[in-house]
Parts: sequence; C-alpha cells; structure tokens
Amino acid sequence: MKYDYLVVGAGLYGAVFAYEAKKAGKTCLVIDKRNHIAGNIYCENIDGINVHKYGAHIFHTSNKKVWEYINQFAEFNNYINSPVAIYKDELYNLPFNMNTFSKLWGVKTPAEAKAKIDEQRAALNITEPKNLEEQALSLAGTDVYEKLIKGYTEKQWGRPCTELPSFIIKRLPFRFMYDNNYFNDRFQGIPMGGYTKIVEKMLDGIEVRLETDYFDFIKENPDIAEKTLFTGMIDEFYQYRLGTLQYRTVRFETEKLDMENYQGNAVVNYTDREVPYTRIIEHKHFEFGKQPVTIISREYSSEWKPGIEPYYPINDEKNNTLFAKYRELADQETNVIFGGRLGNYKYYDMDKVIEAALEMAEKEL
Ligand code: UDP
Repeated sequence: MKYDYLVVGAGLYGAVFAYEAKKAGKTCLVIDKRNHIAGNIYCENIDGINVHKYGAHIFHTSNKKVWEYINQFAEFNNYINSPVAIYKDELYNLPFNMNTFSKLWGVKTPAEAKAKIDEQRAALNITEPKNLEEQALSLAGTDVYEKLIKGYTEKQWGRPCTELPSFIIKRLPFRFMYDNNYFNDRFQGIPMGGYTKIVEKMLDGIEVRLETDYFDFIKENPDIAEKTLFTGMIDEFYQYRLGTLQYRTVRFETEKLDMENYQGNAVVNYTDREVPYTRIIEHKHFEFGKQPVTIISREYSSEWKPGIEPYYPINDEKNNTLFAKYRELADQETNVIFGGRLGNYKYYDMDKVIEAALEMAEKEL
C-alpha cells in the first residue's frame, strides 16, 4: 500500500479530509476526474472576475468552529446575499420579508402583513403540511406561493410542489422584518480571491492527480491505499445495483457583457414558469467588482442523466429509501468511507460539508 488514504474527489469534503489526514501524519492521494480541483466550488478568474463555474456559492454558517476553520484558508468579505425575484413584470425582495409583503399588498406593518397572510391561510385549512406546497401555503399564504415559490421550485426540481419534501422550502427565512438577508446565519461572506484558492491551500503538499477516473484507476491500482474516501455518487460506486438515485443537474449559459452592471445584484431569481431559467448570477457583485465588463450566468435546471454532472440530490421519500439501502451496503465496508453531497446523498451547504468532513476526520484519524 502506497498511501494511507485514496481520496476520490478534490471538492470541499475531500480537501478538508485530506488536509486533516496530512496534519495527523497520514499520507493521501487525491484524485479527481475533472481537470481542476475544488469540485463545484471551483471559480475561474475571467477579466478579474471570479466566475462561480458550477453555480453561485455563498458561504454562511452559525457554527463558529466552522467559520474559524474556513478563515484559516481565506479572508472573507462582507457580502450579504439579498436576491431579488422577478415574477412576470413585478419585482420583489427575497427572502420573504416585510419588503416583499409591502410590495405585494401595500401593507406597512407586521400586523397588517400577518393579517393578510392569515386571511389567505384560513381559506386553505391546512393543519399538518404534508409536502412543499402545503408547507409553503401554510407559511406564507397563496400570493407568495403562487408568485415566488411555485414556478421557481417546479423549474428547479422538475416535479410538482405536492411531490417535494417540505424541508426544501424551510431553507429560506420568512420574517416580519424589513431585512433582505437571505440567511439567518451569524457569519456570511465570499472568500476574497475566490474559492479555488481555499482548496489549493488545503491540498498544499498533498499529491493530486486530475483527469483521473476512479473506476479506471482502481482497476489498475487496486492496492494503492489502505482506505478510500469516496465523495462521488454512492449508487455509481455500487454500479447502480440496487437502482439509480435521482439527481438534478444545472446547465449554465455564461456570457461576458460589455457593460459595467447588468442587473444591479449578484442574484436575480425568475420565479414564473415561462422564463426557462431559474436565476441569473452576475458574478462580479459577489466581490463588489468595479471591472468595465461583467459576466452573467443563466441557470437551467434539468434531470440528471449519466454522463453529465450531478448537483442536487432529490431527497424525497422514494430516493431516501433507496439511499438507505445503499447506506446499508456502505456500512458493511471496512476500507471505504463515503462523504459529501453525492456520497451522503444530502442537500448539504458548504458549512455542513465542512462539519461532516471534520467529524469524519475525527472519527477516522
Ligand atoms: N425557492 C423559491 N423561490 C425562490 C428561491 C427559492 O421557491 O425565489 C425555493 C425553491 O424550492 C428552492 C429552495 O427554495 O429549491 C431553496 O432555495 P436555495 O436558494 O436555498 O437553493 P440553492 O441556492 O441551494 O439552489
């Protein structure tokens, strides 16, 4: 055995684990099938703008330990995510807050907004929300649901809101304050210089092989390491033998525009069904960029198929049940561990990825 660990995937989970393993005196080989490190947090600098190549990533956490941990690798700016939503010819602030309610109904006080929502809720008679639609309706009433949630959610997930788990919508704050901060977390920001540098630092002094597919590599090098950390798709690891898990993928249409400021905000969501993309990201605004040009990405969501990149696990009942069966197989492994969004089939944010990787490192090392 040449290494203590073969780490499959040079994304955030793999990099945190490899960094910790090296610190604990273990040797690692990190492999990734892409031609770059950093997985989906990879940024490419184009004309001085850090372009989030695999979708916008905004770091936010309430876990002080995780915040201090990530700050070892980068300094964070004071960016606060405050997306706006465009529904047909109307524009609203997100997340759902007094600015949204005031624009929707002309109300000014929390009491007036609550009265409006209560009136809409009463007409629905939902006692225990069973799915995303019922959850959203009972939280925010009909107008918010119809204009700001339904179209966006069905485009993003490709399923009716009645077939989606309610936890997805619970990710978003809902508050009776004039406060457009998309997150409730204590700490938030974008790493100055982009995310790729964080992963570069984590992997400093660790052997990395890019454009290396695990399944080919392991056939030729079965004795490469004592243990494997696999951060790819768990069902692919087992050759889909129990069935295929479902994922959503995202296609980005990225364009450089010869203007300083296209949309006046980093994130603009398009919440009606007619616009085919879910949102437009204007990357420079994550870092208060002053470049004479700008780069935007339109996001198109679709069902994942073999051969393209998986992004979001679909944590509905059917998929979670299948994942639990794969998890049983995984629990029987003595020298393979699984991690990350794909290995754990979980809709993790970055802070949760770090938490999980540190926990695993502590257990393992
Ligand atoms: N969502 C919505 N309208 C919006 C933004 C989000 O209904 O304008 C819902 C949608 O169901 C989405 C979920 O909230 O899947 C979580 O959104 P978030 O922005 O956290 O998604 P991510 O950035 O992870 O893609």
